Amino acid sequence: MTFPVQAEIVVIGGGIIGCSTAYHLAKEGAKDVIVLEGGQLTNGSTWHAAGLVGQLRTSANITQLLKNSVHLYKILEAETGLATGWKMNGGLRLACSKDRWTEVQRQATTARSFDLPMELLTPQEAKNLWPLMNVSDVVGAALLPTDGQANPADITQSLAKGARMGGVKFHEQTRVTGIQVHNGNVVGVTTAQGEIKCEKVVNCCGQWAREVGLMAGVNVPLQAVEHQYMVTEVLEGAAVPRDLPTLRDPDRLIYFKEEVGGLIMGGYEPNPIVWARNGIPESFYFSLLNDNWEHFEQLMEQAMIRVPALETAGIRMLTNGPEAFTPDGNFILGEAPEVRNFFVGAGFNAFGIAAGGGAGKALAEWLLAGEPPMDLWPVDIRRFSQVHHDDKFVCQRTLEAYGKHYTMSWPHEEYKSGRPILTSLLYQTLKDQGACFGSKNGWERPNWFAPDGTIAEDEYSYGRPNWFDAVGEEHRATRDSVAVFDQSSFAKLVVKGADAEQALSWICANDVAKPVGSLIYTQLLNDNGCIECDLTVGRVAADEYYLVTGTGFRTHDFSWISRNIPQNLEVELSDITEDWTTLSLMGPDSREVLGQITDADLGNVEFPFGTLQPVRIAGHDVRALRVTFVGELGWELHMPRSAGADVYNAIMDTGRPFGIRNAGYRAIESLRLEKGYRVWSSDLTADSTPMEAGLGWAVKLSSDIPFKGKEALKNVQQQPLKKRLVSFTVKDPEVILLGRETIYRDGERVGYLTSGGWGYTVEANIGNGYVRNAGGVDADFLKSGSYELEIARERVPCEIQLGPLYDPAMARVKV
Ligand SMILES: Cc1cc2nc3c(=O)[nH]c(=O)nc-3n(C[C@H](O)[C@H](O)[C@H](O)COP(=O)(O)OP(=O)(O)OC[C@H]3O[C@@H](n4cnc5c(N)ncnc54)[C@H](O)[C@@H]3O)c2cc1C
Repeated sequence: MTFPVQAEIVVIGGGIIGCSTAYHLAKEGAKDVIVLEGGQLTNGSTWHAAGLVGQLRTSANITQLLKNSVHLYKILEAETGLATGWKMNGGLRLACSKDRWTEVQRQATTARSFDLPMELLTPQEAKNLWPLMNVSDVVGAALLPTDGQANPADITQSLAKGARMGGVKFHEQTRVTGIQVHNGNVVGVTTAQGEIKCEKVVNCCGQWAREVGLMAGVNVPLQAVEHQYMVTEVLEGAAVPRDLPTLRDPDRLIYFKEEVGGLIMGGYEPNPIVWARNGIPESFYFSLLNDNWEHFEQLMEQAMIRVPALETAGIRMLTNGPEAFTPDGNFILGEAPEVRNFFVGAGFNAFGIAAGGGAGKALAEWLLAGEPPMDLWPVDIRRFSQVHHDDKFVCQRTLEAYGKHYTMSWPHEEYKSGRPILTSLLYQTLKDQGACFGSKNGWERPNWFAPDGTIAEDEYSYGRPNWFDAVGEEHRATRDSVAVFDQSSFAKLVVKGADAEQALSWICANDVAKPVGSLIYTQLLNDNGCIECDLTVGRVAADEYYLVTGTGFRTHDFSWISRNIPQNLEVELSDITEDWTTLSLMGPDSREVLGQITDADLGNVEFPFGTLQPVRIAGHDVRALRVTFVGELGWELHMPRSAGADVYNAIMDTGRPFGIRNAGYRAIESLRLEKGYRVWSSDLTADSTPMEAGLGWAVKLSSDIPFKGKEALKNVQQQPLKKRLVSFTVKDPEVILLGRETIYRDGERVGYLTSGGWGYTVEANIGNGYVRNAGGVDADFLKSGSYELEIARERVPCEIQLGPLYDPAMARVKV
């Protein structure tokens, strides 16, 4: 084959992800695609994978992506003629404690919400399916009948054959040594054999993806970690049928799979071993690491308790292969924020075979359309930020995430490693006052404050958590008097230049062409009219806007804005997050407190809601924003970082007679749920339009100002809505809503919760979720149904709420 000098799309890496992406590119009709593989196909992590294919994840769309894998694996062999080893033998999952059983029951409801079959079994029923195991400690089990297993190398070769059949050209022994970037766009790749000009590049390089990303100046935060499994000889006289389901025993941190009459057993040690910290050795192809029995023993001991036949089984081999893991246990997909047309599909955390088919499909569609086929935020490369450039932090977090692979996944669980890394100026001050911090995108943020005499530490539980009462006090202080929240981690962006208004008018769905001092809540939409960002825009000068968005959306929103500002406009975008402190003073007494520390007139006429003004506090210039996410009178005070301590002290000193309290993010969550405020990434995503989300009022559709997404929204407006975001309440305090619970209307499944929690003022559980109906969802449809929520497989009655539950202006509670 002659060496190409140009191509439309270059896929780097011939593991399952590269081959699947190439296969789907061909399916989508891409004509000029080449795959460059440094060694031979499958020679990275793919060839030595165990081959379990599970599907359930905590996100509906990622579960759908994995379901797409299974759908493909079922038909691939018939299409290409190459065997894949696919068997839909089902997946069993055990629970060996009361809490784990609750988790599994909740997972079963999540599966129902996501339309994935999952049955709950008694220990004996599980044993009937898996006779080799000892179930003396098993509380219950679940079966996912459509899970299965495959032969990773065969499935990859089959995908490659399918890709070739669609015209893709493969070049093995062709290592990429450089990526050419011009004006922020990828334009080609360099190999030992020569250069190839191209329009798009996809980095599917597994554990090498970080180094290949760096060739283009792109950060791919992942770390190779050793991962082991053992293969037994045929278990003579024991029942290991070909259709034995895969088995996950998370309490013992292990998994099993049938392998030619014997078993494969592997797992996730709590003390993982990092590999190739200083770079992967050259020509590490079809290579394994030395087996490490000493390290594996902890898993082996557990496995022998579960499967006593292992005590006498012959061991064929122990496989120790490196795999790319990431700091949050999710893989990395999408167009890099640093370089246009440079895509990444890597960091598959030991579920790349399960994800391969669906991830390749999503990536191919993303490459060709320029946007993902559905909301893929949990795996989107833009979820990372500057802290993820720090190798040490990435490595620590990744090892922690690896160790958590099978441990209980508690509500409100926090990572412990690599902390603190980004802190507010007030970190120590708040810590001294009992702050229990959480970590978001590297930032330490106070979640709640422990009352005197109690310990500022979360105790995880599926029931009422230890912080429940403390958060209630913070909530009530905000509703009844005044509270201060350190929200310095807010991402803060500046859009400046002569054409700032024109630029933002195009990308914002709401009208931002407002006088200086205006504050505008707006969504930024994609061409389908769906919500890409949800933020507050303040006009601070004729040629300058100040944008405030969520801590976790910093890279995403910056990237979205910079890429969608029309070209040739005189405008600059910058991120000033670390330079500014934000203190939110919220509650009915906030005006009194603020009024005593500033000369500014804070009346409703002089300082109306939805405006900002410069004020002086404690000798500092402060930007005061009259806005709220908690549903109370209040101001966000934004100021240069150095002013933070003086302003905080002034607020606390003045607020003391009013009973001012520090309050944290868990109180915010409860307060915002009562007020019906939405959160991007859960309630709002790139799968919903503002109309579906009940935010049509924030769209300038009736104006003649053009904006991105407008044409699509006009169409949306002409058709009945197929889904609507509403709230539900459940009065029973024993119920705990966390999100993902299934919504039933008149006994029919119509959706699932996108978020949930307790509202301390309304004294009820509150859950947000979209109600779906192909024939249309209007107010009559919503109001005429009778609703239930399924929680851990039990149904409870609930009330639908079409508006905010709490309204301070009317000083009454509507539940
Ligand atoms: C012990 C073990 C057990 C596992 N078990 C399972 C399982 O049961 N189920 C499951 O779903 N997953 C499992 N996995 C994970 C799975 O193997 C991986 O997630 C998957 O193979 C990753 O595929 P990939 O294509 O991203 O990476 P790889 O297979 O590593 O492919 C990357 C390719 O990129 C090539 N490359 C790198 N740099 C360059 C360059 N500069 N130029 C050209 N080419 C380059 C490499 O040669 C390599 O072929 C397991 C992994 C291990 C280690």
